[in-house]
Amino acid sequence: MSGLQEQATAGLADKVRAGDRRALARAITLIESTKPEHSGDAEALLEALLPASGHSVRIGISGVPGVGKSTFIERFGLHLLEAGHKVAVLAVDPSSKVSGGSILGDKTRMEELSRDPRAFIRPSPTGGTLGGVARRTREAMLICEAAGFDVVIVETVGVGQSETAVAEMVDIFLLMLLPGGGDELQGIKKGIVELADAVVVNKADGDLKPAAERAAAEYYAALGLLRAANKDWRPPVLKCSALLGEGIEAVWQTVEKHRAVMEASGARAAKRAAQAGAWMWAEIADGLMRRFKAHPEVARELEGLERQVKAGKTTPTVAARRLVGLFSRD
Ligand code: GDP
Repeated sequence: MSGLQEQATAGLADKVRAGDRRALARAITLIESTKPEHSGDAEALLEALLPASGHSVRIGISGVPGVGKSTFIERFGLHLLEAGHKVAVLAVDPSSKVSGGSILGDKTRMEELSRDPRAFIRPSPTGGTLGGVARRTREAMLICEAAGFDVVIVETVGVGQSETAVAEMVDIFLLMLLPGGGDELQGIKKGIVELADAVVVNKADGDLKPAAERAAAEYYAALGLLRAANKDWRPPVLKCSALLGEGIEAVWQTVEKHRAVMEASGARAAKRAAQAGAWMWAEIADGLMRRFKAHPEVARELEGLERQVKAGKTTPTVAARRLVGLFSRD
């Protein structure tokens, strides 16, 4: 990196720390860049900002499309702004590359929150693998923290593996459900339910209110059958109406209670440490895989060997050994 570039990066870091929103947006654009010539600057920026990061409550929110995530986050976010917090909303949505838009890209979502200078909303980075999208979101989270946001919400659509990626970067993972029955819970992958630190049954209003009551009781019973992730915390089931703004404060109280319990036992620090370690290994795996696929000899042999494996002409083990051998020869 040239001296000039170094200065520019340091200047950008200063502005981010001072809470300059345009600098924040630029910083995130820089770390989202896939251009190789930006990676040095992006790394230097993150190094510079890392000491100022970490001071936020990191909240993950997941749920199927239509459950009311954006309605909820808007209400919840505005409520937190009122209470004096600064709120950043990020998204993990690897499917956003398809439409070019993203789950947060739609301007009608969280309209009021997005207009408030105390909030910062960033759509999911477009393109790339889930791992890549999650990595950039995680880094954006650190940058938001350095910029003084003390609540970071990471949203994801509840349809696939992105929940795990989000749960691995937050302190508390909220699963939003509709007022269905226990049957609905069966329809959601068990693994995702197990990730939940709290369940929020949304749309507990109007005609749906009795159904929401029933659903909450059923979910609570069903969750009790799952192995508890932490002995000090049994995931509660809350009801709310994002539309009417009811039950929003109770969700925040749950977040705060969870934080107090986890901090008291040391589980919060341990979780963040484990997350950082897992992130490093994910980076290593990613980096190695990229280099593996770009290796000229591997690239030459890969397709043919894969075809032979699929045709049953050679075994996966033999093919893998040969490819790894080619890769690690030099
Ligand atoms: P998302 O796809 O999970 O972000 O869901 P949205 O926030 O876009 O909400 C989907 C639809 O559900 C919208 O028409 C909302 O107005 C409606 N909705 C959201 N929250 C509530 C709620 O608490 N009660 C009711 N009755 N409708 C809601």
